[in-house]
Amino acid sequence: MTAAKTRGIGFTSQRTRDRMVERLREKGVRDEVVLAAMGGVPRHLFVDEALASRAYEDTALPIGFEQTISQPFVVAFMISTLRQGKDSLGKVLEIGTGCGYQAAVLAQLAKEVYSIERISGLLDRARANLRPLRIGNLRLTHGDGSDGLVTAAPFDSIISAAAAAELPPALKSQLAVGGRLIAPIGVRDQALLLVERTATGFNEQWLDAVRFVPLRAGKQ
Ligand code: SAH
Repeated sequence: MTAAKTRGIGFTSQRTRDRMVERLREKGVRDEVVLAAMGGVPRHLFVDEALASRAYEDTALPIGFEQTISQPFVVAFMISTLRQGKDSLGKVLEIGTGCGYQAAVLAQLAKEVYSIERISGLLDRARANLRPLRIGNLRLTHGDGSDGLVTAAPFDSIISAAAAAELPPALKSQLAVGGRLIAPIGVRDQALLLVERTATGFNEQWLDAVRFVPLRAGKQ
């Protein structure tokens, strides 16, 4: 991608991204490393052209297949929580690639990122969205994220972008010792669950109420 195209003009410009970052800061996001990563990823490339002018609003937007791109504040909050006290997210598993936006942010903050999406049509879109960014440490997989990704486990960080009724046991078991997982849990009423694996077991903590699309079984 040419510098001019990523820098952009008007709603695609760095200034617009900087304003989004400023709003996230005002809403309480304190992790400047996460904010810098989000300031660097051109979110308008991940939504439909018709919605691109709204790409930097702090809101979820439709990305087709009845799915949404996550709200910037929620992306920032979840990633900041995973990073607390750490320099790097290490090896990351993301469940629910969607349009690929969060995966692009994660890749700036991790050694490597594995992202799973169950809808192949969305995965194709994510690949197309991500291609111009030339991210070398991100691998996309078509599959059911409830099973995690045995071939790449264990993970230092696991993040789910879709809400399960209960946390899939495979995800906990694929967490490295010292690793952290954050996932929305619940059907109608959802909240973020933070799980940390210690040498002897797991610590679990409920965080804020959220609204995510559901985690569905199987792939299509
Ligand atoms: N990460 C995206 C958000 C995508 S929305 C972003 O950057 O904004 C959540 C995604 O999870 C949807 O694309 C949905 O298809 C996907 N999903 C739902 N259940 C899944 C499952 N079991 N395995 C993998 N992906 C799943």
